[in-house]
Amino acid sequence: MSNQDFYETLGVARNANDDDIKKAYRKLAMKYHPDRNPDNKEAEEKFKEIQKAYDILSDPQKKAAYDRFGHAGIDPNNMGGGGGFDGFGNFGGAGGFDFGDIFSQMFGGATGNGGRQQQSRQGADLQYSVEISLEEAAQGLKKQITIPTYEECDVCHGSGAKPGTSASTCRTCHGTGTVHVRQAIFQIQQTCPTCHGSGKEIKDPCHKCRGDGRVKTTKTVEVNIPAGIDDGQRIRLSGEGEPGSDGAPAGDLYIHVGVKEHKVFQRDPNNPTDLHCELPISFPTAALGGEVEVPTLNGRVQISIPAGTQNGKQLRVKGKGIKHLRSNQIGDLYCHVVVETPVNLTDRQKELLAEFDQIATGLNRSQTPRQRGFLDRLKEMFD
Ligand SMILES: [Zn+2]
Ligand SMILES: [Zn+2]
Repeated sequence: MSNQDFYETLGVARNANDDDIKKAYRKLAMKYHPDRNPDNKEAEEKFKEIQKAYDILSDPQKKAAYDRFGHAGIDPNNMGGGGGFDGFGNFGGAGGFDFGDIFSQMFGGATGNGGRQQQSRQGADLQYSVEISLEEAAQGLKKQITIPTYEECDVCHGSGAKPGTSASTCRTCHGTGTVHVRQAIFQIQQTCPTCHGSGKEIKDPCHKCRGDGRVKTTKTVEVNIPAGIDDGQRIRLSGEGEPGSDGAPAGDLYIHVGVKEHKVFQRDPNNPTDLHCELPISFPTAALGGEVEVPTLNGRVQISIPAGTQNGKQLRVKGKGIKHLRSNQIGDLYCHVVVETPVNLTDRQKELLAEFDQIATGLNRSQTPRQRGFLDRLKEMFD
């Protein structure tokens, strides 16, 4: 796992752009999301690898280091868990599933492999995923989410030392919480292995938090998901991430929004306010024209099919798309006409169609322009 090729993991080329990487990540993350693969260890591992690959490839600095130096360019002790290559607390993994797992993923660094406990450091950013329907994305919604967090231990009031005792300065790092190590050609700042970043040594740890100074808890946050949000976008809740230590500011909470595929509508990838759907119509309706009902996100509407409508024609239903995320502009719905050839005909229907065909023999260019054009081209080719 430590030698995974991040590009291979995401199934993208080495010259893939940010967008390709993001798309590939979203697709795979959805596929291997633990919500969708309960009790599947393999999927869980895969999910973690995907997170890790994305963590590196979505960060321009880490990506550049990885592109130039491979794994030597990235501090393995800091990957995935708490801190990133630059020591800045980064995501541990996507949430939205089993609690125990959220803890281990979000606070993967808690026992010392990440940049979590550095002295007076800003809290790590947290990541959480939610999946919503297309209807919800179109309307926007408020969602309550419960996320794991830490609070100050009420026994030792955050010192980590047993009441009546106090912590002393760590002798390895002299209280800075970090040490410098050489790795490949880099000089890397790492969390102090002795004090795990706290800068303190505690001889008699507090029994409740075991010296950590804080205990796990949960908090509920209301997330306002705005109308028009698209699959793969994220919302930042400033200061709602992991609390900082020793008075440092908290990290941010990132809500990754996934929009589920809809049974009828597809969003236009280049213009996410527009929707597309298929509209099967009968051959007589296509020929004669008529009124048909089409679905929209808020009920059915009638549209008229012009006489002589061809297969593949797009009929636009104005204003029945999705609201723009940052303006009040609303997109359109495009119905893609599929002219359906009737099957399982009754004898009477066959008779009528045969008769139609007979009187249609010798149709002129104005009635079947496409067929005529085709025959003309064949004639030119072979005669
Ligand atoms: Zn305590
Ligand atoms: Zn130390």
